[in-house]
Amino acid sequence: MKTCELFKVKRVLSFEIFPPKRTDSVNIIYDTIEKLKGINPDFISVTYGAGGSESSSNTLKIASDIKNKYGLESVAHLPCINLTKGEVLKMLDDFKKAGIENILALRGDVNTRFILKNDFKYASDLISFIKENGDFNIIAACYPEGHFESSTIIEDIRNLKRKVDAGANQLITQLFFDNNYFYSFRERAAIAGINVPIEAGIMPVVNKKQIERLISLCRANLPKKFLTIMTRYENNPEAMRDAGIAYAVDQIVDLIAQGVDGIHLYTMNNPYIAHRIYEAINTLLVA
Ligand code: FAD
Repeated sequence: MKTCELFKVKRVLSFEIFPPKRTDSVNIIYDTIEKLKGINPDFISVTYGAGGSESSSNTLKIASDIKNKYGLESVAHLPCINLTKGEVLKMLDDFKKAGIENILALRGDVNTRFILKNDFKYASDLISFIKENGDFNIIAACYPEGHFESSTIIEDIRNLKRKVDAGANQLITQLFFDNNYFYSFRERAAIAGINVPIEAGIMPVVNKKQIERLISLCRANLPKKFLTIMTRYENNPEAMRDAGIAYAVDQIVDLIAQGVDGIHLYTMNNPYIAHRIYEAINTLLVA
């Protein structure tokens, strides 16, 4: 099923997982999927390392298994910056053969360790290419706080409109910790004529390592309330986990109250956290 159809009838709940880095631990992901299946999410998306990391080759297999073995809808991430048109064509063919109907079309982060292939400059180039070469539902990424390479948020919205005009039917946001960024972004998108469903990407932050990584890698604003909670519990892993779950639930409840189209949970391959959050919000999802 094309996941864009789901938004016509319900508020969507989806999960994101990533292939394990070590090939010998790939089976762990199937235990995670089995547990996530208990929640019956609308779809599970599988990331793909733009740098061509070892895990990339597993994306197709995991997305295919989610669909064909577990009976859940899947989305395969596809970052194009290090791919040629020929390589993308081959992947589209593999997706089609595996019955995968949904692709999250991305540019990927520029990494100086890899020689750039110049076939795709932006995600919008990939989106047009997929549209010309198959019958897929195309999803694109968006950034409530603006993408870090854009000089202004207006420029970023213009570029997002390019992706929708090229054929993206659905959007998923980068993680954010202050819902006000999401609400302002949603307004800007509507003014720009972007009328496709937008799922809010929520990441429960449940340990200190994650926070350190967020601070160094992710450009999302960390609000004072969030930092206060995290500092308060940094030496108590269990309390920090519970506080992280509570913070994510709080964000989701507010988003649902404000009519969000869907929630995309960055699960970090942790089904326990996903279950805890689901238990707290499931009655609101159907309301
Ligand atoms: P683009 O849409 O191409 O945007 C990149 C930058 O270029 C932006 O600043 C944009 O404003 C600008 N731009 C776009 N079009 C134009 C134009 N025509 N002219 C001038 N400027 C333009 N990365 C991975 O490697 N693997 C993953 O699996 C993955 N999954 C993700 C899932 C989600 C939900 C999100 C939000 C991000 C994900 N990423 C992933 C990260 C993503 O690859 C990076 O954020 C990357 O830097 C931008 O990708 P994009 O597709 O948004 O790029």
